Amino acid sequence: MSDLTQLYQEIILGHNKQPRNYGALGDPCSKADGNNPLCGDEVTVYWNILDDKITQLSFEAQGCAISRASASMMTELLKGRSLEEARSLFARIDSYLTSHAVAEMPEEFGELVALAGVRKFPSRIKCATLAWQTFLGK
Ligand code: ZN
Repeated sequence: MSDLTQLYQEIILGHNKQPRNYGALGDPCSKADGNNPLCGDEVTVYWNILDDKITQLSFEAQGCAISRASASMMTELLKGRSLEEARSLFARIDSYLTSHAVAEMPEEFGELVALAGVRKFPSRIKCATLAWQTFLGK
């Protein structure tokens, strides 16, 4: 295993063990459930939006480390952004993961770069995108 791969593993396992923004929000909030039957991942995303900004974003999830880490990273990345920014960011992440036309994970993705390895395993891509699709309603 290369040093970089090992670093990425540690980032993923760290988020899996100590997920950020974990737990339901109090009422009122919006929420959505998603699941990935291929892997058995289940996620619930909770949020509040005020003046077009995502003011609160949290999740609960059961499943593999990739799905939980991705959800945790998503809540950190998207809090404070507009829905439009969130959609555009996800569109770029999705095209990175599913299209080999994009060679490098852009730096703006932050720790999500740790998930770059899943593009080699098509069955795990859904693990990495589940929370995003659940939140953004795709
Ligand atoms: Zn999974």
